[in-house]
Amino acid sequence: MTQETRAREAICRLAASMFQRGLTFGSSGNLSVRVEDGWLMTPTNASMGDLDPARLAKLDDAGRPIAGDPPTKEAALHLGFYEKRSAVGAVVHLHSTYSVAVSLLEDTDPEAPIPPLTAYYVMRVGNLKMLPYFPPGDPALAEAVREAAARTPAVLLANHGPVVAGASLEAAVYATEELEETAKLHLLLRGERTRPLTAAQVTALLAR
Ligand SMILES: [Zn+2]
Repeated sequence: MTQETRAREAICRLAASMFQRGLTFGSSGNLSVRVEDGWLMTPTNASMGDLDPARLAKLDDAGRPIAGDPPTKEAALHLGFYEKRSAVGAVVHLHSTYSVAVSLLEDTDPEAPIPPLTAYYVMRVGNLKMLPYFPPGDPALAEAVREAAARTPAVLLANHGPVVAGASLEAAVYATEELEETAKLHLLLRGERTRPLTAAQVTALLAR
C-alpha cells in the first residue's frame, strides 16, 4: 500500500470517527495531509461522516487542485501552516462547539484563550493563540493564519473554530480533540476557583 493510499484511508476513518462523536456536523470541518507530490484534502460540501477515499481532493505542490472533487473552500487555512512549518504533515479544522464557545467569551485572552489546566493539553496543544473574527473566505483570514502559523501550531479563529497542525494526521487529530475537551473543562469550571498548572510546571512540560 502506498503512503497516499494509507493517507486516503486514514482521512476517511478519522473524519468519520470525529463526525460520529459530534466533533463536527453537517458539511463543516476539513482535514488535509501532506503526500509526496502535494496534499490530500477533504472536498467542499462533503460530510466528514461519509467521505470516499477515491474522491478526496488532490492538490499539487503549488496548492492547485489536480484530481478528485474540488477541495474545501477553507484550503487556505491549511496551506498557511504547511508554508510556515516545514515539519507539519497534517492539518485539522473543525467548528467544534466548546472551542467555538471559548472564542465567544468577552474576556477570552487572545494570547492564552484556555488556561493550562492539564499536562496533556500543554504537551499536545501547547501555545494556542486566538485570531480575530474574519468572514469566511476573506483573504485577510488566510493572511492572519499564515502569520500566526509561524509562531504556533494551533490557532482558534474567533466566532469560527480551531485550526491545528501536527506531524501526522493522528497527531493533529489528537491535539484537536485535546483542545476541544480542555475547552469543555474550562467552560465547566467557569465561576469556580481553579488551580491551573503553574508557569514553572508548563515550562517543564514544554521542555520535555
Ligand atoms: Zn471553518
